[in-house]
Amino acid sequence: MMTTDRPANADSVAAAAVDEARAALVAQVGADVVGPHLGLEAEGDGLVTHHFACTQAGYPGWRWAVTIARAVDQGSVTINEVVLLPGDEAIIAPAWVPWRERIKPGDLSPGDLLPVDEDDARLVPAYFDGDPNDTALDLQNLKLVSDEVGLGRSRVLSVDGRELAAQRWHDGDQGPDVPIAQSAPAHCGSCGFLVRLAGPLATLYGVCANEFANADGRVVSFEHGCGAHSETQLRKKQLPPPPLDPVFDTVSRDDLESF
Ligand code: SF4
Repeated sequence: MMTTDRPANADSVAAAAVDEARAALVAQVGADVVGPHLGLEAEGDGLVTHHFACTQAGYPGWRWAVTIARAVDQGSVTINEVVLLPGDEAIIAPAWVPWRERIKPGDLSPGDLLPVDEDDARLVPAYFDGDPNDTALDLQNLKLVSDEVGLGRSRVLSVDGRELAAQRWHDGDQGPDVPIAQSAPAHCGSCGFLVRLAGPLATLYGVCANEFANADGRVVSFEHGCGAHSETQLRKKQLPPPPLDPVFDTVSRDDLESF
């Protein structure tokens, strides 16, 4: 921990060698960017780091750290390293986040690859419907088995994967809570344009097949809905006015086109 007073465990010669530390620092980075001595910290036996303010433009809050050492029974010190360190006020880059955690839905561009992990909780072996630890088959055999029985897929959605998708779709733009669904005359579950899914999600979701609906081609919750529902009827006051009765003009003369 940096302090302006000499720590009790700091080597006295190394702690007093502020000028040597500054000279080494200036030799490395130039006098223009070296500020006052800020303090020192004891790193170990005969090892002390001196800190100097950094006056380089664009580096507020950074400080130079010069580590010096004194060998046992030696009267002089040697310079170990000179580095620039961020202080509490320093502007530093945000913590690095791995690409896999940074990528968001919709980020994939043509040619990008996004492989799933072997232990991705959203997937289970295709023949499997329980705890993966129950099986003695390894992954290489799984493909053989699934191909052999004609499933064509080594893995399918796990219960976790299914629930995550169901929740995501429920909370998304084709879920029941969006304004267009709230003001719809009826739900997708009763719409003739709904194409039903197969599998476990078939009781909750389908695909909209109405080219005039915003959700055309998308998975919709049975509780979603829109004004293009197949049974939508206009109310009486929303109907266009009926055409007026024809008027027979028996008073004036018509101009007839002559041939
Ligand atoms: S047309 Fe509207 S109500 Fe019908 S399935 Fe599509 S989104 Fe649902």
